[in-house]
Amino acid sequence: MSPVQTDVLVIGCGIAGASAALRLAQDTQRQVTLVTRTAELEESNSRYAQGGIVTLGEDDSPDLIVKDVLAAGAGLSLPSAAQILAEEGPELVKEIIIETAGGTFDHTPQGELAFGREAAHSRPRILHVGDATGKAIIQALIAALQKRPNVRIVPSATAVDLITFSHHARDPLTVYEPITCHGAYLFERAQRTVHRYLARATVLATGGLGRIYRHTTNPQGARGDGLAMAFRAGARVINAEYVQFHPTALAIADGEGFLISEAVRGEGGRLLTPDGRHFMAEYAPEWGDLAPRDIVARAIHHEMVEHGYPHVLLDIRSALSPDRIQERFPTIYARCLDLGVDITRQPIPVVPAAHYFCGGVWTDDWGRTTIQNLYAVGEVACTGVHGANRLASTSLLEGLVWGDRAARDIIARGPVPIAKAETVPIWEEEGLEEEADPALIWRDMRTIQHTMWHYVGLVRSGRRLARALRDLNHLKEEIDGFYRSTKLNDSLIGLRHSIQAALIVAEAAQHNRVSRGCHYRDDTKGTAPI
Ligand SMILES: Cc1cc2nc3c(=O)[nH]c(=O)nc-3n(C[C@H](O)[C@H](O)[C@H](O)COP(=O)(O)OP(=O)(O)OC[C@H]3O[C@@H](n4cnc5c(N)ncnc54)[C@H](O)[C@@H]3O)c2cc1C
Repeated sequence: MSPVQTDVLVIGCGIAGASAALRLAQDTQRQVTLVTRTAELEESNSRYAQGGIVTLGEDDSPDLIVKDVLAAGAGLSLPSAAQILAEEGPELVKEIIIETAGGTFDHTPQGELAFGREAAHSRPRILHVGDATGKAIIQALIAALQKRPNVRIVPSATAVDLITFSHHARDPLTVYEPITCHGAYLFERAQRTVHRYLARATVLATGGLGRIYRHTTNPQGARGDGLAMAFRAGARVINAEYVQFHPTALAIADGEGFLISEAVRGEGGRLLTPDGRHFMAEYAPEWGDLAPRDIVARAIHHEMVEHGYPHVLLDIRSALSPDRIQERFPTIYARCLDLGVDITRQPIPVVPAAHYFCGGVWTDDWGRTTIQNLYAVGEVACTGVHGANRLASTSLLEGLVWGDRAARDIIARGPVPIAKAETVPIWEEEGLEEEADPALIWRDMRTIQHTMWHYVGLVRSGRRLARALRDLNHLKEEIDGFYRSTKLNDSLIGLRHSIQAALIVAEAAQHNRVSRGCHYRDDTKGTAPI
C-alpha cells in the first residue's frame, strides 16, 4: 500500500501537538497531519489539567516567573529556557488560546482575569477555568483545528516507531549520514494494520509516562510512547530520573489517582495526619503547606511509612466556606461527593502519585532533537525548563510555547524533501496470525507498574534500582519476543513502549547518586547544593 505523505506529521493532540498544528496551519498551502492514538481527540494529559496555566499576574514580571521556576527546579533548570517560557508564554496564552482558539478563563466579579495562587509561586498568576482548565483549553484548540482545511486529524492511530534512516532505509549507505526522521509507522485501529506516514518534518508530542507507575494521576495513554520511540531511533534523552510525584492524589477506592489540585492548598487547604496533626511546618518551615511538590510528597510518604498511615488528609473546610468550595472546585467537589466524601464537611484522604516527567527527549530552544527533521514538544521533551522539579502550572505553558516554537522553526527553514516511498520498507506483518493475549499484556504492564512504584519511586536506593533493572531487563526480553510473534494492537504497542520507558528512567536513576529535586536516594549522603 502506498504511504501517506504530508508536509508535517504531528504525533499527539494534547496542548503541545495542537499548538504546533495550529501555527503550522496558518499557511494554507502546508498540509498538516495530526494523529492521536485515542478515538476521542481530547483524551490526553492536557485534558485533565486542573489548576491552570501560568501567565503574568498583577505586580508580576517575567523575571519573577523565572526566579520561581529556577527555585523549584533545584539548580537544574536551564535559565535561558525559563526566560523563554516567562517572556513568550503570557503573550501566547493571549494570542493562541484566547484570540485564535476563542478560549476563556475565569474572571473576577469586576470583570478582570482572575489569578490563582499555587505552591511555590511568589505571585497569584494562574489562569484557570474552575478546576477543569485543561479540558477548556484543549476543547478550544481542537475546535479551532477542526476548522482548518489543511489539517487532517487522524484518531485511533498509534505510532509504533519513527521512520529513521539508517534504521529503516533500504540503502545500506545511509548509515554514514546523520540520523534523519522521515515520519512514522502508524497502527490504524480501524484497518488493524500499520501504515507508513512520510513527512518533511515530524513533531513528537506524545506526552508523559505516569502510567508506568502503579499509582499515578495520569490517564491510560501516558505510557512513555514517544520517549521510547525517540530513544530507539537514537535521540538523546536527558534527566530521565526526574519523575515528579504529585503529593495529593485521591485515596478512595474507585477514585484512585484522581488529582486533588495544588490550588486546594493554594486556597488555604492544610495537610493533616489522620489523627489531626498538621505536619508540613516540620518539613518546610518557610513554605508550610505550600512547599514545592517533591518536599510535600516526601513529607507525606515519610509520615505514612513512619506511622503506618494508609493516607493523610487535606482539609479545605477551615479555609473556605461551603459555597466557595463548590464554586472554586466544582469538579473535585462533585467527584469526591460521588465517592462518598463531602469536602465541604470532611477532609479529603490523599496520597502521592506519579504525575509528571521532567526529563525527556533533549531539545534546543526551538524543539529540535538530535535527530534531523524530528522535533519534540511538551511533556515528552526536555527543554530544561523544569530541571529537577517542575513548578506547578508551567507544563501547559511549556507545551504551548515549544509547540509554537517548533512550528515557527519548521516554517522558517522552508520545505525539505520528502522520502521516496520506495526507499522506506513497508511494515512486515506476514506470518503473524496469533492474537495478543490480553491477560499477558495486563500482567506484564502490572509488573512494570509495581516494579517502578516500589523500586524507582519516591525514595530510591542503589539496591532497589539494581533489582528494578534486573527485573525490567528480563521482562523486556519476554515482551520483545511476544511483540515479534503476535499481531499488533494498541495495548501491545504500549507495553513495548512502556518497558522501554521504564528502563530509561530506572537506568538514569541508578546512574545518578545525587539526590536533587524529585530524584531522591536514601543511600547516598547529602543533597545537591541549590
Ligand atoms: C491530572 C493532571 C493535572 C494536571 N494539572 C496541570 C495544571 O493544572 N497545569 C499544568 O501546567 N499542567 C498540569 N498537568 C500536566 C499537564 O497536563 C501535562 O504535562 C501536559 O498537558 C502535557 O501536554 P502534552 O501535549 O505534552 O501531552 P498530552 O496532553 O498528554 O498529549 C499527548 C498526546 O499524544 C497522544 N499519543 C500518545 N502516545 C501516542 C502514540 N503512540 N501514537 C499516537 N498518539 C499518541 C495522546 O493520545 C495525546 O493526544 C496535569 C497533569 C495531570 C495528569
